Order: sequence, then C-alpha cells, then structure tokens
Amino acid sequence: MEKTSFLMVGERANVTGSPKFRRLIKEDKFEEALAICRSQVEKGAHIIDVNFDEGMLDGEACMTRFLNLVASEPDICRVPVMIDSSKWSVIEAGLKCVQGKSIVNSISLKGGEDEFRKQAQLCMRYGAAVVVMAFDEKGQADSQEGKVAIAKRSYRILVEEVGMEPSDIIFDLNILTVATGMEEHNNYAVNFIEAVRDVKRECPGANTSGGLSNISFSFRGNNPVREAMHAVFVHHAMAAGLDMAIVNPGLLMEYEDVDPKLKELVEDVILNRKEESTEKLIEFAEKIKSGDVTLGSGTPEQRIHDAMLKGMDTLRYLYERATKEGNPEILEKFLAGGSGAVPEKKKTSEVASKDWRGGSVGERISHALVKGVTTHIEEDTEEARQNFDRPLHVIEGPLMDGMKVVGKLFGEGKMFLPQVVKSARVMKKAVAYLLPFMEEEKKTSKEVSQKTKFLIATVKGDVHDIGKNIVAVVLGCNNYEVIDLGVMVPTEKILEEAKRNKVDIIGLSGLITPSLDEMVHVAKEMQRQNFDCPLLIGGATTSKAHTAVKIAEKYENPIIHVEDASKVVNVVGSLLNTKTKDAYIQEIRQEQKNTRDSYFKRRTTRELLSISDARNNSFKTEWKAIEIATPTFTGTKVFDDTISLSDLEPYIDWSPFFHAWELHGRYPEILEDKVIGKQAKELFSDAKKLLKTIIDEKRFITRAVAGFFPANSKGDDIEVYSDDSRTEVLQVFHTIRQQNKKQGGSPNYALADFIAPVESGRKDYIGGFAVTAGHGVEEFAELFEDKSDDYNSIMAKAIGDRFAEAFAEYMHQYMRKEWGYGKEETFTNAELISEKYRGIRPAPGYPACPDHTEKRTLFDLLSVEKNTGITLTESFAMHPASSVSGLYFSHPNSRYFAVGKIDKSQIEDYANRKKVAVGVIEKWLAPNIDY
Ligand code: SAH
Repeated sequence: MEKTSFLMVGERANVTGSPKFRRLIKEDKFEEALAICRSQVEKGAHIIDVNFDEGMLDGEACMTRFLNLVASEPDICRVPVMIDSSKWSVIEAGLKCVQGKSIVNSISLKGGEDEFRKQAQLCMRYGAAVVVMAFDEKGQADSQEGKVAIAKRSYRILVEEVGMEPSDIIFDLNILTVATGMEEHNNYAVNFIEAVRDVKRECPGANTSGGLSNISFSFRGNNPVREAMHAVFVHHAMAAGLDMAIVNPGLLMEYEDVDPKLKELVEDVILNRKEESTEKLIEFAEKIKSGDVTLGSGTPEQRIHDAMLKGMDTLRYLYERATKEGNPEILEKFLAGGSGAVPEKKKTSEVASKDWRGGSVGERISHALVKGVTTHIEEDTEEARQNFDRPLHVIEGPLMDGMKVVGKLFGEGKMFLPQVVKSARVMKKAVAYLLPFMEEEKKTSKEVSQKTKFLIATVKGDVHDIGKNIVAVVLGCNNYEVIDLGVMVPTEKILEEAKRNKVDIIGLSGLITPSLDEMVHVAKEMQRQNFDCPLLIGGATTSKAHTAVKIAEKYENPIIHVEDASKVVNVVGSLLNTKTKDAYIQEIRQEQKNTRDSYFKRRTTRELLSISDARNNSFKTEWKAIEIATPTFTGTKVFDDTISLSDLEPYIDWSPFFHAWELHGRYPEILEDKVIGKQAKELFSDAKKLLKTIIDEKRFITRAVAGFFPANSKGDDIEVYSDDSRTEVLQVFHTIRQQNKKQGGSPNYALADFIAPVESGRKDYIGGFAVTAGHGVEEFAELFEDKSDDYNSIMAKAIGDRFAEAFAEYMHQYMRKEWGYGKEETFTNAELISEKYRGIRPAPGYPACPDHTEKRTLFDLLSVEKNTGITLTESFAMHPASSVSGLYFSHPNSRYFAVGKIDKSQIEDYANRKKVAVGVIEKWLAPNIDY
C-alpha cells in the first residue's frame, strides 16, 4: 500500500470511540490522555482527531484544555488536529486555541444551507479545512448517487458561494457496515468506493475520507477478520481515489499481508461479488476464532510480533487492544508464542487438557491453584457456581480449599513463594469471575460478606514496593480483602483510609532507616486516635528488636514484626482466631519485653570511645608516599539512555533477585540446590524470558550521571572543590566515625580517612554517581497488574532493581578506568560482585555513611535530578525505585565498614559541622544513637 499518498487520521483521542481515553478524561488525567495522541503520531498518524462529545463532559472546556496541552507538545502538534464535535460551540472553542492548520470535523447540510454557509465561513476565518459529511436535510446518504449528489451540492456552495479552496474540503462519504445479514447492506462498500470515484471527478481538488472501523462493525471481537476487511477496503477505496481515513494507526495492515484465503472471502464481501459471501465469511471467521484455522504469515500476530520488536509501546498497546476488544487471545497468544512474557500459560495448557480435566470440579480447581494454571479456571468456577447457592460459597468452598492446599505445601516448604504468587493469579481470576454475581446478589440480599480487611502501605518518604506487593498477594489469595495504598503514604492517609474502610489490621512497610521513625509516628497516632486494630511491621530495615524497643510501647494494641511474606498468613491467622488469639498476643508481648530487657542491659554494658579518642585511632595513611590516582577528567558526565540494557545484563548479580522471592542462597549454586533448585530454575527461566522482552522492547530507560572532583579531607569532613586550584569549596561531605572500642589495633574508621587531608598538601579526588533503570519499570509492571498478573508485575520490578545495581557496577568499572588505576582490570562478573577491585562506592544511608541526608549534597553536586530524573523523597529515598547512588573512593585500602553506635559527643559535633540542630540529626541518625 502506498501509504505516503494516503493519510491516516488517528481515531483514538475520542471519548466515544476509546474507553481508555474517556476514562482518562473523566479522571482528569489529561497529561496521560495526551500520551494517546503521542503514541498515534509515533505509529504514523498524519492527523489527530479529537472528540469530547459525551453527555457528562463539558465539551468546550475539555477541548480548550486538551488542545492547549497539545500545543505544548512539539511531538504531537507537528501534525494537524481534527476538531471533532457535533456541537458547534465545541468546535469554535477548539478553533480558538489551535495555532497551525486545523480541520473541523464536521459540517453538513443537515441544518440547511444557511447554517452550512455560516459555519463554513467561520472555518475559513480560522484558516481551517472542513470535513463535510454526506448528510443533507433528509439525512444520511447511503447510495452512491445520494452521496455524490450531496457532495456536489456542498461543493458548489462552498467553492462558488463561500469561496473556499477546494483543497480545504474533505468529503466524508459515510462508510457503512457491511455483512450485517441485511441484503440491502451488501453493497454499502461498493457504494462508498464508487462515490469516491465520482466525487474525485465531479468535485475537482476536493479530498475524500471516511471512518474506517464502521465497515467491519459486524465482526466486533474478531480482530483478524476486521483488520483484513480494513486492509482490503482501503486498498480498493484508495484505487478509486480515497485520500484519507479515520483509523487506528499502527493497526492498518498491508493488503499484501492479508492471509490469501481470508483475503478472498473478505474481498467477496467488500466488493459484493458473490452470493452468500457474508455467510461464508462468518463461517470462516468462526473458525479463526475457535483456532480451527490459523492464518498464514503476515497475520496480525506476526505483525504484532514484528512491531513489538521495533517499539517499546507495543505491549501496552496490545494489551489495551485485547481488553478493549474483549479478545485477550491477542495478547496471550502473542506472549506465549512471541517472546514469552507469560510463558507458563502455554506450557500448562498443553499439559492441561488431558490428565486432570477428568476430575471433580473441586479437584480441578485445586489442581489449577496448586499448579498455577489459569486456562480453565473460569469454566470450572462457573461449574462450581452452578453447584452452590451463592457465589461466595464457591470462594469459601472449593477455591479456599484449593488455597489451603497451597498454604499447606508452602508451610511445609514443599512449595515456594513464586509458585504461591502464581497460584494467586488463578485465585484472582476466579474471584474476578464471581464478582459480578456477587454484586448482583448484594442488590437482593442484606447480608454482607464477612471478609477480613487488611490495609497495607509503604510509609511516607519510602518507595519500597516489591516486598509489600508480595505480602498483599499472599494475603489476597488467602481470601483477605487487601487495601493496598501503595508507596509514600502519609500517616494521615493511612489512618483515614483505615477508618473509612473499617479495616481489621494495618500493615506498614519500609525499606530505608528513616521509615522506622515514620512507623513510630504511625503507632503514636493510632494510640492518640484510639485505634484498636493490630499493627504489623515489615520491610528491609525493620526488625524484631526495633519493633519491640521503639514501636511496640507506643500503642497499646498488638504490634507485630513480620519477618517476611511467608510469615504473614500465620500472623494474621493467629490474630484473628478467637480461640488462640489471646494466648498468641500474650506470647508476643512477653517476647517483646524480653527483647527490650536484653537490649537495655546490653546498652549499659557497651563502651564507646569518646569522639576525640576515636579520632586518635583513625585509619592512617602514609600520605607522603602513597600513589594517588588522578582522573582523566573532573566534573560530571551524563549518560542519557546511551547505555543499553543488553550492555548491563552481563553485570547483573542474580543472588539478590532470588532473595526478593524469598529463595535464599547464592547464584548460580542455588539452581542446583536439593531443596529449592527446581523452583529456583523455574523462576530464573521466567525471569530470563521477561528480561529478554524488556531488552527487546527497550522497556526501561537507563540514565546516569557520574563525576570526579578535587577533594581533601578536613577532620572528618571531605571538602569538594570547584577546580584544581582548590580555593573554592563546592560542597562538603560530612562523615561519621566509629566509636566502638577496637581490639587488636584496628582503627576507628570514617570515610574521610580515605581522602588525603588538606595539610598533607596532596591532590586527591572523590567521585560520585547516580544511576537509574527505573524509568519505565512502573509502567511495565502496571501492564501486568492491570490483568491481575502480580507474578510478572513483581518480576518486572525485581528485574528493574537488578538492572539498577548492574548499572552501578558497570558505571563503577567505567569510572575506575577513567580514574586510571582500573585501566588494566580484567575481572569476571563474579569477581566484580565480590568487589575484588580497588576502591569502594559507599551509598548514603548504608552502614559506612548512615546519614541519608548526605544524599542531598551528592545530588546537588551532580545535579542528579536534572541529569537523570531521579528525585529524593522527604526521607531521601530515591524515586524511581530502581536507582542507586553513592560516592567513589580510590584509596587502595578503602573498605566498607559499619559506623555502628555513636554517642552524644559525636552527634553534637556532627550537628555543629553540618550546621543543623542536634534534634534534627538525632532524628536522622536514630538507629545509630546510643543514648
Ligand atoms: N551486587 C549487589 C551490590 C549491591 S550491595 C547487587 O547487585 O545488589 C553493595 C553496595 O552497597 C556497595 O557497592 C555499596 O554501594 C553499598 N554498600 C555496601 N556496604 C556498604 C557500607 N558498609 N557502607 C556504605 N555502602 C555500602
């Protein structure tokens, strides 16, 4: 198809035609709605149609706001906008804000010649072209002659009376649906095509157009057929002179690529050239749908596959298409057969059919849950529903029975977290199936379901997501109603939602140390506001000890630390079981008291050096003698998506990936482990497949900044200079020194020890970096979340984190080479992971530099926000989550250490150096404080 001469008008920014666009506009997400325009332009749209004709919307306001946004997007506003409305006031509102050439869609003779003239004149005044519909006072023209007659009459008025340029006229000659089963519709396509031919001849210089999707409306739900019809129809209409059509850009396939058998049948229908062609096409369409025929190469699937390899937007777009058209096979087939993002579905369905399908419905459901097979769950759920009085009983009966088996196997260590998450996917699908029946029932019965409600949130300032999501999934599939408030949730919001939803339990999650304090705050507020539900605490920096010592006593109801996701069901179960509840809480309280007692006892026996004694025992270097490396550049370098994900893949350290899924061990040995090896292998293979998709589709964007700066230490501070004259101090890093009493002559380290002091007279340097693979992670994960696929959503985030760490490793190696001493390095990835190289990259918030607020200094020094798009939350967590930052030290003896406990003398000294109030420092360093 000669696409260059044919114009595609993008149809998706239309509230009546695109459910997604409508939803976004209704939710006031105009920026996101704009993305639909951008994606259409990327997919080749030459013009964008924009329509807000919906009863509940203020069309004028929407049009104005949206077109103003479009105007600010160079990528979008380089193509003309088609202002589409049946309300003239909306069109006028649009005309007022478009700057370049626009097109009004539409005017017609529907309201008589006077109105037609008036509107046409107005369009001319705005320099707009017009779409003229083949309508007149009598209505819509469906015959060839009718269409041509209206076009000729309109043309005469516009050109001769109004004075419009013929090239500004676009006739929409009404594409009407064929193959409806009504005899009189059979010639509709031919009528249109022939009318195009006539109009091109009779109305010289004018253009022709039509809304394409109408033609195939009787095949809704069967996209292969619809697309074939579109391709064939456009092919013939173009030959007759059609200039443009309103289409879903990117979906218009080449005539040559249509499966030959399908093409023939479609052509019979479009050209109305055989008896019974409609019946034959319907018959064939059914076969395509049921999978009895597969289409040849150049089928939609094939094209989707190719498209996916080319563009990163594709999966989302496919997903949208699949859901919108109610045809999930599009996505599933593709995923299974293409790059395999959801591979196990296909595998299991193959195994599926025979063996286990013969069992009772309960057995089948149980099997599906244990094996994580989603293929038949809906039909089995339906069968079960028929057997029970109420849909809820299906959940409480066979589904929960199945999940109990899962829970039991999990508890016995015969099943592992990744499988549980897969089982959850099956459960979710079954529950989603039952939901409408339950809603229906709710209308007629007063009884409400007695589900336990669990509210979960990551606290303010923190972006910890993976662990929290795993907990939510595990609870969800145990039939708790989980209200997940997401990340960075302020206390007020948590407690408000808890009250509003009358939740039974609240769970808090956090990754970084400042979140510990935030959790204390939540507990205090719960006490103050007279809450009475238990509070669960979880996440990387949380601990039994911290919960017992710092949180438990702030709230009189149970506060329980949950070590990991596999424990949460037991904890919640014990809290809710009226028989065992009291004893369980009693036991926890006793345990927490013991923890506190021993904590305070240890503290009184611990001895710390004073800060001055600790400084006397600092780590010493022969500064006169030591070789100091000079970097090849100073200042920063920015890497804006220039390093590819496939460059980073070899640097991935897989062990932490398995830990995220609670499979503990070291990669690659874990794959051969007697107990968890099989599961680890399966997980790894799923990860590798998703990884490949991510790389092929370029799902994540890599952005980084790294730099070197002249630096010298001054006491425990590190001064960073603007240039090598070392006269102007650009930033100061404040380091903290170990104060614990050392044995055997080891020093009391501070990071400043690794930088030459000012008084040494030596020229030393420090480096800094911030890397992210996080842009795109959230979006990609959402694709899976939208279809209740938590397994792949969590997987996507875990892979995002891996890429971020791999990027840090990659960048460190790059910078060691730039620093000179790393030039000759030839480490394997395993050696890099075990840090065999010279130098370190400590990260603020980690044990050697526990003060998260130093990240602000680092970010200012490197202009991290501007250069990478990484931002800091109020607790100094990096957002997006898959980001890493830190400092580089080149000292050959530099090493990681833990600052550990420090006393008031250092806190005061540190507060003084940083020029921040002691109370503020005490808050940030709370976990290190020993008083
Ligand atoms: N290969 C691992 C690397 C992350 S952990 C992965 O892929 O997850 C190692 C990093 O944590 C170090 O490079 C450093 O940035 C930080 N780190 C570890 N121990 C530290 C300490 N004691 N003080 C400061 N930063 C530390």
